[in-house]
Amino acid sequence: MLKSAYHRIASMDDRLGEWETGRLWIRGVTMTNTEYSVHNCGKCHQKHPTMKKYPPVFSFGALEQKPIWVVGINPAEAEYDGSNGSAPYLSRSTDIEERRQSQLRYFDNKPYDFFQQIEKFFGGEVRDKVVDWKAKPWEKVGFVDLVKCVTKDGWSKLKPQDQRTLVDNCKPHLEHQLFEYRPWPKLIVAYGKPVREWFSRFSGQYRSEYEYARVPIQAECAPVVLFIDQRGYKRSEREIVPIRQSIVKAFQLLGSPQL
Ligand SMILES: [Zn+2]
Repeated sequence: MLKSAYHRIASMDDRLGEWETGRLWIRGVTMTNTEYSVHNCGKCHQKHPTMKKYPPVFSFGALEQKPIWVVGINPAEAEYDGSNGSAPYLSRSTDIEERRQSQLRYFDNKPYDFFQQIEKFFGGEVRDKVVDWKAKPWEKVGFVDLVKCVTKDGWSKLKPQDQRTLVDNCKPHLEHQLFEYRPWPKLIVAYGKPVREWFSRFSGQYRSEYEYARVPIQAECAPVVLFIDQRGYKRSEREIVPIRQSIVKAFQLLGSPQL
């Protein structure tokens, strides 16, 4: 990664910004420009139906050199408050580094159902042929959301107008992440209908589930995107198979002009 993409914050007294009303102070932390702006972003909180008490999530787990990223729509309240039977793994500290570390180390814990379902996509032939992870797929798979902010209700319950505003507020963050970590990821799994629709727009046509295509997001940044919808129930092993097949096929075609 480019050295110039890093902020070196040397002083104990550097005040970096606010996400709520509290001040953020940094102690000798090195982070990328994009990390800096996401952790400090308060744009969605200004007048939109987001939960102010929850800071934005840069990523779940680290993103460096991950050949695959899964992109979801936005983080759930449960990640912070521990509902859904999971522990509250994400920190709400005013200390940016504490929050950042809780996000980077997210998968040291057993994640909740939502992620357990996604882990299955990367088993079987994907593990054999594409990503040779040892203990868990997150060694090779990154996770980010299109919208970094937690909303009061589930995404589908928001007014379309609010959905649009939140996506517009937050999308530069994802665009910057993709630019900053290039040439990673090689493959993006656009997970869920709203994310499928967002990526579809770049490719100039509507994309259906299990389809994959090279998506020109910016010059120099055109990852292959595989479109997978999120189900309201747990997929059976049989329903996971076509997802694995698509991941393997998309990987085989990475360098090909067919994409
Ligand atoms: Zn936001």
